[in-house]
Amino acid sequence: MAPAAIPPPLEGKKRRIGVMTSGGDAPGMNGSVRAVVRMALYSNCEAYAIYEGYDGLVKGGDMIKEMQWEDVRGFLSEGGTLIGTARCMAFMQRDGRRTAAKNMILKGIDALVICGGDGSLTGADRFRDEWPSLLEELVESKELTTEQVAPFKHLNIVGLVGSIDNDLSMTDATIGCYSSLARICEAIDSVDTTATSHQRAFVVETMGRHCGWLTLMAGVATGSDFIFIPEQPAKEGWEGNMLGIIRKHREMGKRKTIVIVAEGAIDENLNKITPHQIKEILSGAGLDTRVTTLGHVQRGGQPAAYDRMLSTLQGVEAVKAVLEATPETPSPVICMIENKIVRRPLLEAVAQTQKVAEAIENKDFKTAMELRDAEFAEYFKSYNITTASEQPELLLPKEKRMRIGIIHVGAPAGGMNAATRAAVAYCLARGHTPVALNNGFPGLIRHHSDKPLGAVREISWLDAESWANKGGSEIGTNRGLPSEDLETVSYVFKTYKIQALFVVGGFEAFTAVSELRQGREHYKAFKIPMVILPATISNNVPGTEYSIGSDTCLNALIQYCDACRQSASASRRRVFVIETQGGESGYIATIAGLSIGAFAVYTPEDGISLKMLDHDIDSLRETFKKDKGQNRAGKILLVNEKASKTYSVQIIADMIAEAGKGKFESRHGVPGHFQQGTTPSPMDRVRAVRFAFRSLEHIEQYAGMDPDEIDDDSMSTAVIGIKGAKVLFSPMDVIEKRETDWHRRRPKKEFWTDLKEYVDILSGRPSQNKRQQ
Ligand code: ATP
Repeated sequence: MAPAAIPPPLEGKKRRIGVMTSGGDAPGMNGSVRAVVRMALYSNCEAYAIYEGYDGLVKGGDMIKEMQWEDVRGFLSEGGTLIGTARCMAFMQRDGRRTAAKNMILKGIDALVICGGDGSLTGADRFRDEWPSLLEELVESKELTTEQVAPFKHLNIVGLVGSIDNDLSMTDATIGCYSSLARICEAIDSVDTTATSHQRAFVVETMGRHCGWLTLMAGVATGSDFIFIPEQPAKEGWEGNMLGIIRKHREMGKRKTIVIVAEGAIDENLNKITPHQIKEILSGAGLDTRVTTLGHVQRGGQPAAYDRMLSTLQGVEAVKAVLEATPETPSPVICMIENKIVRRPLLEAVAQTQKVAEAIENKDFKTAMELRDAEFAEYFKSYNITTASEQPELLLPKEKRMRIGIIHVGAPAGGMNAATRAAVAYCLARGHTPVALNNGFPGLIRHHSDKPLGAVREISWLDAESWANKGGSEIGTNRGLPSEDLETVSYVFKTYKIQALFVVGGFEAFTAVSELRQGREHYKAFKIPMVILPATISNNVPGTEYSIGSDTCLNALIQYCDACRQSASASRRRVFVIETQGGESGYIATIAGLSIGAFAVYTPEDGISLKMLDHDIDSLRETFKKDKGQNRAGKILLVNEKASKTYSVQIIADMIAEAGKGKFESRHGVPGHFQQGTTPSPMDRVRAVRFAFRSLEHIEQYAGMDPDEIDDDSMSTAVIGIKGAKVLFSPMDVIEKRETDWHRRRPKKEFWTDLKEYVDILSGRPSQNKRQQ
């Protein structure tokens, strides 16, 4: 038999890269396929889609298709996986893996990017491990010749974690987990309103056989009463404990009860805990109780903004990893740590993940918890504190308790209320007194002594209890600054004995704390610890790469853009020019651009020139000229509101329409305040809780300290934020002096500016980057 024909090897650095999705589908998988295909083409490689996961690899032939640029158009906004996925028994067997290896070689594919859960990545790792011996077998059995396998000695495998469970160790987020969480939170928010109306109890079952991430985060984001997760099995007597907490909440005035149970919930003896079992207990205690099983709803739907961005950036990184790989490089899995894309050894990530299940089986729950990322344990701790059960061990001695002022400054942003709710719960658990300073600094200056209700009010647990999922600002926010009347601000702090300040807001909040810090020279009342939790859709607060509210905004914006796209698909050949908010920062425009696959993004950092517009209009003309009907998805240009004083979205749209001369048309859109969103996104909510807790822990260190001593410590005025792979506090004086562009109201160095290149690369915008096709 003549040996099968194999495509000749590609020249130079070029590779043939296969991409597949495997295991359970997850929203965002399509984004990674799109990014791998386009990044591969951009990098002079060939791209192949392997349909139906490992099944496609084992079957070969038409299941492995070469992909062109246009083949992945429109992928970003689609849920599920468009190249299919399957559970493949054949790949579990060595024979199946040998056939898979042969099929890859027959297509000339020498690198494989696999997007899937821990099972898929385990399979990938096994495949990589066995690869040399599989090739030997193929030669021995004369299916391939020594010469044929010679160019394929080293298989490059890169893993992308696509799974709604977020169950892989070493990454903070898997592709799909935040979309799934959004679905769960939407459902629980809906159940919440009916539960409140009827004073009912609901037991909601969520997915997660071995991993409680979805359940825990849903608990934190929705403010549920009790959760059951596999990593922290319910302790003996859990029935009484749960009822105790629920009774306490009811006594405090709560009208509803929500219990969330992970599919894999167990007790300490590894007995399964079912929603119906919990229902019986709650009904027995006199609560009108219903069970809601969310099921596959949790997997479906369009990907959230974060998953679109994550899958895109991970796809880009996967191709880079393939191109940089040497025979010695261990196979990586692309992970996200806080805000940073990193590569981790696939082998270790898989091994660590499997250890969690083993630890649970061995009843070693401490290890199970530790093997999840550090964030997981932190959220669990935060969750327990917010449920307001009796926790006397958390109470601080009297002399360490403080009156902590909470104030919102600037425009509303999603998550402000969740942060305040968490701060209140934390204060009460520790014995502090949370004091709301209503309506920002102007409220405090003008209305602190109003009768019957002044602007300075202590907050009770019940006041804040329902704020977990509320948009806007329940205690009121205002752009006004303390410099309006520092004298009165100092008087109010003294009169109401404010001993610490927790400020939630954007650049104005930053400016306000800067003013108070500098005011310490004249006002002793300001010599108190102050922390800013950045909250603004613009994400322009120095000292952090992430502000709460920005994720909510991105989700609102992509919803708007998706609607425009949909209308474009009916009318074809239409360009939408959409104005985004963001002040002097192009963050929102750029990340939204990555998440929707914008043709171009115009930011204040780069400005807009006539030459730039000319170039882009030319390339639009070219694109539409080549269009053979595929471009029905239309094109979107995102323009930050401050990108140019001259070129408004309307002018740009008119210029495009003029140039289109009937061949293509354009429309402009201004989503305006729609971008502030309605209900805050789960990511903004959970991060609000985490940062609020950390902020108050930081503030607490100053309890009982002398004002001058506080003043001497530069960390006594700080901003909490994410920087790279870390969550940390930065001292205001340093950030103000070194990192702030006061004139443009943004950080001097913006972490995301490099990402703009990927918007261009992946949309094929030729003016910035030459694309190879
Ligand atoms: P999810 O997290 O959604 O369950 P997953 O990737 O863990 O996704 P699995 O069903 O465990 O989903 O695995 C998907 C496929 O990966 C399997 O059908 C099989 O083809 C392959 N696979 C899983 N484990 C192995 C293994 N140990 N050896 C070889 N192949 C495997």
